[in-house]
Amino acid sequence: MEIGSIGIVGAGQMGNGIAHVCALAGYDVLLTDVRQEALDQAMDLIGRNLDRQVSRDKISAADRDATMGRIRTTLAVTDLGPCDLIIEAATEREEVKHAIFAELGPALADHTILTSNTSSISITRLASRTDRPERFMGFHFMNPVPVMQLVELIRGIATDEATYAACQSVVARLEKTSATAEDFPAFIVNRILMPMINEAVYVLYEGVGTVTSIDTSLKLGANHPMGPLELADFIGLDTCLAIMNVLHDGLADTKYRPCPLLTKYVEAGWLGRKTQRGFYDYRGDTPVPTR
Ligand code: NAD
Repeated sequence: MEIGSIGIVGAGQMGNGIAHVCALAGYDVLLTDVRQEALDQAMDLIGRNLDRQVSRDKISAADRDATMGRIRTTLAVTDLGPCDLIIEAATEREEVKHAIFAELGPALADHTILTSNTSSISITRLASRTDRPERFMGFHFMNPVPVMQLVELIRGIATDEATYAACQSVVARLEKTSATAEDFPAFIVNRILMPMINEAVYVLYEGVGTVTSIDTSLKLGANHPMGPLELADFIGLDTCLAIMNVLHDGLADTKYRPCPLLTKYVEAGWLGRKTQRGFYDYRGDTPVPTR
C-alpha cells in the first residue's frame, strides 16, 4: 500500500519532529493536538529547525518552504480519519491513547494504518481496543527525531504483513533505518539502554565511581559518545525511572529494579536538563556534577 498522507496526534517534543521529517520527505502531514498553543509552538519550532538545516546547506530554501506548505494543523482529531497512516505521539498515558483511538475510530478510512510512537505501552493492548488490530503497530522514533537514524517497528500479535511493509517503506523514504522488534516491554533500544543507565546509577550509589569517573569511563573505555549519567539527564530521569518500572513490572525480574538513588533524584524534582539539575547542575556556564 502506497502512503501519501500522514496524520500525527500530539504536537509535543516527538510529534513536531515526526511532522518535520515526514513533510520534508514529501508526505502531506496533518498535525493535531488538544492545545492550540502546542500546535503554534510546533510550527514555530519546525520552521526554526528547517532554517537551521538551510543555513547548514543540508536543504534548500525552496525545500524549507515546500516542507512548511505540506504541514496543516487541526484541533479536531477526527480530521485525521482519511489519512493513509496515523502516528499517535501524544502524552505517554495509556488512558489518553485509548481515548484518542476511540474518538478516531468512527472517522477512520478502511485502509488507514494506525500506529503509536509509545516508548513503553503494549502495542497489542492498544491495538485490541481498536477495530483494526491487523492494521495497527508500533512506530517508535528516537529523540531528537530529525537527527536520530533509527525507527523501531513493533509488531503487535495481530499486525499483518502489508501493514508492516507499508511502515517499513515509510521509514525508508524518511531515509532512516528500521529495526524490527516484537511487542515486549521497552522493545529493543530501551530494554538494553535503560538497564545500563540504571547500573551506572547503582555504581554511583554504591560509591564505586563518581559522576565524572563513570561518564569518563564509558566515553573513553567503551567509546560511547555520551556517558550514561549525562545521557540520563538528557533523556529525563523521570522517563528513565518510568521505563525501568515498565521493565520491572512487565518482565517480573528483580534484575530490572530501579536504583533507589534514581528514585531519589526524581522525588527531588531533579529530572536532568529539563529542570536544570540531575546528575549534573546545568544552571551555570558548564555542567557541574551533583555528586
Ligand atoms: P510531550 O509531552 O512533549 O508531547 C505530548 C503532546 O501530546 C502534548 O503537546 C499534549 O498537549 C498532546 N496531547 C495530550 N493529549 C492529547 C490528545 N488527547 N490528543 C492530542 N494531543 C494530545 O511528549 P513527547 O516526549 O513528545 O512524547 C510523546 C510520545 O512519544 C509518548 O508516547 C512517548 O512515550 C513517546 N516517545 C518519547 C520519546 C522522548 O524521548 N521524549 C522518545 C520516543 C518516544
